[in-house]
Amino acid sequence: MTDITRRGFLAAGVASAALVGVGGFGAATGQADRPFVRPPGAESNARLAASCNRCQRCLQACPYGIITPVPLSESLVAYGTPLLAFEHGYCDFCMQCVDACPTDALSYGGPRERDLGVAVVVKDACVAWDWSGCTVCKDECPVEGAITLDDHDRPVVHPDFCDGCGRCEQVCPSASLRAYDSSVQNKGIVVVSRACASAHAARSVTSEELGTGRYERASEALAPHSQGVHPNGPHDKKEAGHENA
Ligand code: SF4
Ligand code: SF4
Ligand code: SF4
Repeated sequence: MTDITRRGFLAAGVASAALVGVGGFGAATGQADRPFVRPPGAESNARLAASCNRCQRCLQACPYGIITPVPLSESLVAYGTPLLAFEHGYCDFCMQCVDACPTDALSYGGPRERDLGVAVVVKDACVAWDWSGCTVCKDECPVEGAITLDDHDRPVVHPDFCDGCGRCEQVCPSASLRAYDSSVQNKGIVVVSRACASAHAARSVTSEELGTGRYERASEALAPHSQGVHPNGPHDKKEAGHENA
């Protein structure tokens, strides 16, 4: 069971009190529960917001620099807790962040130890939806069966196999391929929390749907993946620096 640290409890408590002042208990609960993509072994967002002491040791431990603190603009309650960003790397489950965590806010065991979220295809950003030819995400995905191609060679994500590692989001070249069109901001494929509304998209989302659903909590979280096997296990630690941009 994760310990709720005094510092994390106080941080969440002070922020919650401030929010209660401006928006009531609903605002505080909603912010604590905001569905971010978290490092391995994080329990629910609300539990993490309470148990993390904001020491940032996980950020320093990650060899690929993919852990970043939740900014104040995103959540007052979860401010400073770890979230994942895949611009320059992806998670290979080396578990160095879990080993570095002093409070068990990130911990071994449980359904989220190897399940970070799920990838969703953004159909107005993915170039395979406009033209054929790009299969980079499928080619680079380390989990066999997590991405297949449909009859038009467009990527389809299989949530039962995808572990949310972020490799597809990191390597998707849609931004450079669409450099002429600045209206498209997203990657063609993006990892979201299984607790958010976008995770329930049957096959793909639009940029607009992603914008509204990415941080909107769904009534029920998508079940963790049950079939995909990431080739690098939790105890198979790699040297730092692979493929970092
Ligand atoms: S498991 Fe390793 S690669 Fe993944 S977020 Fe933690 S430290 Fe980074
Ligand atoms: S890599 Fe990006 S642009 Fe290419 S098929 Fe996959 S999602 Fe679409
Ligand atoms: S997040 Fe990882 S496992 Fe899921 S589709 Fe992308 S590369 Fe494959």
